[in-house]
Amino acid sequence: MQSPHIVIVGAGLAGLRTAERIRRQDHTGPITLVGAEPHLPYDRPPLSKSLLVAAQQLAPVALRAEEAYAELDLDLRTGATATSLDTKLKELGLTDGVRLGYDRLVIATGARPRRIESFMGLAGVHLLRTWEDCQNLRADLHSSRRGRPPRLTVIGGGVLGCEVVASAGTMGLEAHLVEALTTPLGRVLGDQVGETVARLHREHGVGLHLGTSVASVEGTGHVERVELADGTSIPTDVLVVAVGAAPNTEWLHGSLIAVDDGVVCDATGTTSDVDILAAGDVARMPHVRQPRSVRLEHWTNAVDTAALAGGNVLLDPPQRAALTEVPYFWSDQYGTKIQSLGLAQPDDDLEIVDGSLDEPRFLGLYHRAGAVTGAVAIGRPGLLARSRAAVAAGARLDDVLKNPPWVRR
Ligand SMILES: Cc1cc2nc3c(=O)[nH]c(=O)nc-3n(C[C@H](O)[C@H](O)[C@H](O)COP(=O)(O)OP(=O)(O)OC[C@H]3O[C@@H](n4cnc5c(N)ncnc54)[C@H](O)[C@@H]3O)c2cc1C
Repeated sequence: MQSPHIVIVGAGLAGLRTAERIRRQDHTGPITLVGAEPHLPYDRPPLSKSLLVAAQQLAPVALRAEEAYAELDLDLRTGATATSLDTKLKELGLTDGVRLGYDRLVIATGARPRRIESFMGLAGVHLLRTWEDCQNLRADLHSSRRGRPPRLTVIGGGVLGCEVVASAGTMGLEAHLVEALTTPLGRVLGDQVGETVARLHREHGVGLHLGTSVASVEGTGHVERVELADGTSIPTDVLVVAVGAAPNTEWLHGSLIAVDDGVVCDATGTTSDVDILAAGDVARMPHVRQPRSVRLEHWTNAVDTAALAGGNVLLDPPQRAALTEVPYFWSDQYGTKIQSLGLAQPDDDLEIVDGSLDEPRFLGLYHRAGAVTGAVAIGRPGLLARSRAAVAAGARLDDVLKNPPWVRR
C-alpha cells in the first residue's frame, strides 16, 4: 500500500491525537476524521470545572486552533455519525447516506453517560458529557428557582460526580451527593483515600449520602425531590446523573469487530480485525502490569492510546508496539488536585509515604504481596511524578522505601 487512506471515527481527544501522530510519521496519504458533534474537537475536563462555574457562557476549549486542521491536511467531517461498518468491503456508512472507504481504520468513538430512564424526562435532570450538556447544566446552576439559589443533587460519587458537587460547592450552592458505596471515589482509590475525599466534601458543606441509593425521583414536570432508600428526602432543583459511561459501539453491530463493554484490543491497540485499531474511552485493552483488559476513561489514557494507535496503524501487525505508559488520571476538587498512577485494586494495601491523609496533602503507594501496584497523591503532584518508575516496574515496596525516588537529594 503506497499511501493508504486512514479513516478515524470519533473527533474527540483520541481521534485528533491519532491523526496528529500519523502525520508526524510523514504519512502523506489521506486521513479522514469523522465526528458526530458539530464542533471542532474540544477538551472535556473543563466541562465539569471552570466552564460549569463560569458566570458567563464561554466557548468550548478547542484542542487545536482552526488553522491547525489545514496544516494537518485532514478531511475533517464534523456533524457526521458512522452508523455501520462493513469490514469485508472496508467501508463505513454515515448518517447522510455516504459510504466511506478505508484502507486502515481507527475507532475513537468514546463513551456516553449511562442514563436512569425512569426520571430522565423531568426538567432539571442532567447528564454531563458534551459542550451542550455543560451549557444546559451551567444555565440551571446559575438560575434562581422560586426566588432562591438552586439546590443540586448528584447521583454517583465517582470522579465526575465529585467534580460537579465540588463546582457547585465553590459557587456557594447547597449540594448533595448520593453514592451506593461507603466513600466517594472508593471504587478507584479505596476506602482510606475515599474517607479523605468525603471529609473534603463535608468541610465544604456538601451533604453526603453514602451507602444508600435512590428509591425515586419526584416532581411534576420538574424535579422536586430525591427520595433515598434509607428514607432521606432531598429537596432538589437540579439533578445530575453521574453513574458511569457506556462505550459508543452500537454502530459496530454486525461488523464482526469483537465488542465487550468496549472494543476489544490487544496491547498494541489492534482489534479483532488487523486493519482496525481503537483508542481512548471506547477501547478495552491490557495495560502495563495489568494483563486483564480494562477500559479506562481518563484524558491521559486517550492521549497514550491515540499515540499507540497512530504509531501502529501504518505497520503490519508483527511490527506493532505494545502500550508502555502507566495509567494516570487527575481530578480537581475545591482547588485541590487528586492524582492516581497505575491500576491498584481498591483492596490493595496503602502506605502513606509522605504527608498525611488528615491534612490532606500526601503521597501514598498501593501495594499487594510486597509489590507496588499504584500511587495516589493529593496536593503533591511533583512527588507523584517521581514515583512513576516504581509503579511502572511493580518495584518491591521495601526497596522503594529504602531509596525513595520522591525525596530530592
Ligand atoms: C465532564 C468531564 C470531565 C472530565 N475530567 C477529566 C479529568 O479531570 N481528568 C481525566 O483524566 N479525565 C477527565 N475526563 C475524561 C476525558 O475527558 C476522556 O477520557 C476523554 O475525553 C476521552 O476521549 P475520547 O476521544 O476517547 O472520547 P470522547 O472525548 O468522548 O470523543 C469521542 C467522540 O466520538 C464521537 N462519536 C461517537 N460515536 C460516533 C460515531 N458513531 N460516529 C462519529 N463520531 C462518533 C463523539 O460524539 C465524540 O465527539 C473528563 C470527562 C468528562 C466528560
